[in-house]
Amino acid sequence: MEEKEVVSKNFIEMAIEKDIEEGVYDHITTRFPPEPNGYLHIGHAKSILLNYGLAKKYNGKFNMRFDDTNPTKEKTEFVESIKEDVLWLGANWEDRLFFASNYFDQMYEAAVKLIKKGKAYVCDLNPEEIRAYRGTLSEPGKDSPYRERTVEENLILFEDMRAGKCEDGERVLRAKINMASPNMNMRDPIIYRVAHMTHHNTGDKWCIYPMYDFAHPIEDAIEEVTHSICTLEFEDHRPLYDWVVRELEYEMPPRQIEFAKLYLTNVITGKRYIKKLVEDGIVDGWDDPRLVSISALRRRGFTPESIRNFVELCGVSKANSSVDYAMLEYCIREDLKLKKSRIMAVLDPIKLIIDNYPEDTIEYMDANNNQENPELGSRKIPFGKELYIERDDFMEEPPKKYFRLFPGNEVRLMNAYFVKCESFVKDADGKIIEVHCTYDPETKSGSGFTGRKVKGTIHWVCAKTAVEAEVRLYENIVDEEKGKLNEDGSLNLNPNSLQILNKCYIEPTVADAKAFDSFQFVRQGYFCVDCKDSTPKHLVFNRIVSLKSSFKIEK
Ligand code: ATP
Ligand code: MG
Repeated sequence: MEEKEVVSKNFIEMAIEKDIEEGVYDHITTRFPPEPNGYLHIGHAKSILLNYGLAKKYNGKFNMRFDDTNPTKEKTEFVESIKEDVLWLGANWEDRLFFASNYFDQMYEAAVKLIKKGKAYVCDLNPEEIRAYRGTLSEPGKDSPYRERTVEENLILFEDMRAGKCEDGERVLRAKINMASPNMNMRDPIIYRVAHMTHHNTGDKWCIYPMYDFAHPIEDAIEEVTHSICTLEFEDHRPLYDWVVRELEYEMPPRQIEFAKLYLTNVITGKRYIKKLVEDGIVDGWDDPRLVSISALRRRGFTPESIRNFVELCGVSKANSSVDYAMLEYCIREDLKLKKSRIMAVLDPIKLIIDNYPEDTIEYMDANNNQENPELGSRKIPFGKELYIERDDFMEEPPKKYFRLFPGNEVRLMNAYFVKCESFVKDADGKIIEVHCTYDPETKSGSGFTGRKVKGTIHWVCAKTAVEAEVRLYENIVDEEKGKLNEDGSLNLNPNSLQILNKCYIEPTVADAKAFDSFQFVRQGYFCVDCKDSTPKHLVFNRIVSLKSSFKIEK
């Protein structure tokens, strides 16, 4: 029997395939249309990868379009950061980079066309009056007294608006649809407003600007986008989208399809909150590794593959829900597992001195870079009389089932010898500062020694050759379970979201590590060289993710 491949499709793919089958479109084009008013975050990554993935899947085109029609909030600085992030995620738009502000002439013409068709009118009501006339969800609106202006009058007044003869808010252009529509968006929405403002691209050429609901469908239509994929909050705007492309008589009108936004637990995505954290100096800029902007994830050490995988696992849905941050961590762990060398680093050091090991001798131990992936090869790790081990790998008075070092106990030093704890030294405050051991030369790792077994294996770093580094440990910046917000509406911040460890010792493998290089530190987690603060003389590592979690994905 022939085996059938079962491929599950999401509802957007089904809609596109239906359109292809029915010959609605002769090509497929999608777009990612950010407003350049902030940095992109993990939610945007979903939209980028969804749109790009659909274009690839259906041999279509993917447009990168800056939706820069609103002169108040936009900054060119964001254009560059957005481009960098989109490319990093792997969504290459090639030569298809567009700016909505380049279409202002066509948008103006479109508005004139609607006026000529009797489908738009200039309205002199002030903003409060417009609101009052709009009605409510339970009551229909009232027609504006300016609704029946003649085409000629409307053309003259709209031209006056364009020519700078009106103050901000004095007049607007409205679509003439239906003030009694149950959908508030259809109650003669404003499509052009007066705003005497300089635009970053068009300068002072315009003092009227189109509203989003009018501009967006036109942008899509001009670029011959077929499927305009957006998030759920635009569902109620779809009738207006359809009205605009129908009344403007585009030959192959684009269609809008909505999907649910991606929300993550225990993180902050709202621009307003992030801005405040940045301004208050609580985080170190928009790329602080505790944030989930794309640049923060990149800085922390996430890979494009891990984010792609994450977005894939989340799927595409019509219902809003939150995804556990642990799932993102799972994806980065899975991605790095076979790709990264597993090296030794001691984050909270105490000295271990091997009393019977020769002075001034450095021996080189063989170690596989990654036991699960032989392709990563092996390396030599220096070993000597004085080592660093983790403070919690030694206990003066161990509890039951503690198999690491304590007086009289023998453990394996990973990739090296068995050592037995003989004594220890405390400082004046009773803090342990040195552990003294003896080693057994017979037990060298790889020598085939089978004489006896030990229950514990600990990692270490040779003191003489160690690289001293700073390591930054992160926890979630807010704790969902305790409530993201305080009663006064401020963020309920986790005071331990950043822990800085200043004197960590790492094997010399990292001596030449550069920004964004990452490693597994055995028994600890994955760590990445910080791109902002690390220097060759003072390495700084970010913990990307710890090794273990209770989070599992059924495979
Ligand atoms: P935010 O307010 O979170 O910054 P936005 O909607 O204002 O987001 P835009 O620049 O307007 O940001 O969005 C660009 C595209 O990204 C839009 O198509 C939008 O629907 C999509 N998008 C924004 N947030 C998410 C999210 N959380 N999940 C999926 N897509 C998103
Ligand atoms: Mg927006």
